[in-house]
Order: sequence, then C-alpha cells, then structure tokens
Amino acid sequence: MANYTLPDLPYDYAALEPHISGKIMQLHHDKHHQAYVTGANTALEQLAEARESGNLGNVNKLEKDLAFNLGGHVNHSIFWTNLSPDGGGQPEGELAAAIDEFFGGFEKFQAHFTAAATGIQGSGWAVLSWDPIGSQLIIQQLFDQQSNTAQGTIPVFQLDMWEHAFYLDYLNVKADYVKAVWNIANWQNVAERFAAAREKTAGLLVTS
Ligand code: MN
Repeated sequence: MANYTLPDLPYDYAALEPHISGKIMQLHHDKHHQAYVTGANTALEQLAEARESGNLGNVNKLEKDLAFNLGGHVNHSIFWTNLSPDGGGQPEGELAAAIDEFFGGFEKFQAHFTAAATGIQGSGWAVLSWDPIGSQLIIQQLFDQQSNTAQGTIPVFQLDMWEHAFYLDYLNVKADYVKAVWNIANWQNVAERFAAAREKTAGLLVTS
C-alpha cells in the first residue's frame, strides 16, 4: 500500500518574506502539512484493517478521514509550488490568453479570485481549476480540505485561506494576505499545470 510522504518545500522557509514569514512557512509545512500526510496514511491503514477483519462499521468515519487528510496533502503539495520568491507579475502565453477568455482579463480574474478567497465561510481555499467537461477555467471555493468543488476539476492555482496560513502575519485582515500573495504567485508553475490539465484530461468526462 502506498504511503504518502511530506514533500520538501521548493525554497527556504523564509524565502517568501516579507509576504509570508518563515515562521508561518515552517509551522505550516512541518506541522500542518505533516499532520495531513500522517492522517491520510492512518486512514488508509485503518481501512485496510477493516477490510481484513470484515469489521466495516467505521467505514463512514474512515472515508471522511481519508477525504479530509488526503485533500489536505494534495492541496498543500500544490500550494507550495504555486508560490515562488521569484513570482509575481502576470501570466503569459496560453495561460494569459485563457484568463482573458474565461474571466475577461487578469484584473477581473484577480478581483473574482480575491472575493472568493476572502469570502470563504469558515476554513478553506480559493482555487483556479480546469474544468474538463466544459473545457474552461473556473474559480471555486474549497471548504475545509475536500468540499464544495466539482468532481473531475483539476486545481492549477490555489490559495490556503485557513487561519493557520496567514494569522501570525496578517491577523484578521485577509485582504492584505491575498494582496501580498500576488507578489509571489508562480505563474510559470500555474502555466505548466494548466497545460498538463488541459492536455491530459481531454475526453476524460465525455458524457455521450
Ligand atoms: Mn494549510
């Protein structure tokens, strides 16, 4: 059975300062992300034990644990790569063209994404996703680590809006956190994810 492992950050803890502090990054990666990795492995182990013993009475709890913790592992693994000390600026090439097409321009995209991020009720993420059935980019609000997004959509850029992601630096001022993130958004990484999502999911959700 596959065991999930914590990926290294692609930069030093303090590399994203002053936009996100090294203290947040170290806690966020070493403690929070690690906890999701451990939780996902535990859920899989307990599901395997339940199959082996035939005692499946806890299956609802274990499936929920798996969705939450594996969701957290996936979300953070993508998030780290979506940021870079060399980030900022604007998307280029086909990603820029797609943002123009589906959102009416980069500024309108930023305003929509910011509103989605700061408006989340509770803990969650703002996510720019490729929707293979509509062949389009959409913005979604992801609740907790696993809810309120459509099946089959592929995240290409996502922003952690849990309080642990920003509170030490920005307290309750979510808008300043989102504004700072535009300075470290790794559009090259997003463009690579966009190209791969569009190419590899073509025809995946054909309905007729
Ligand atoms: Mn987080």
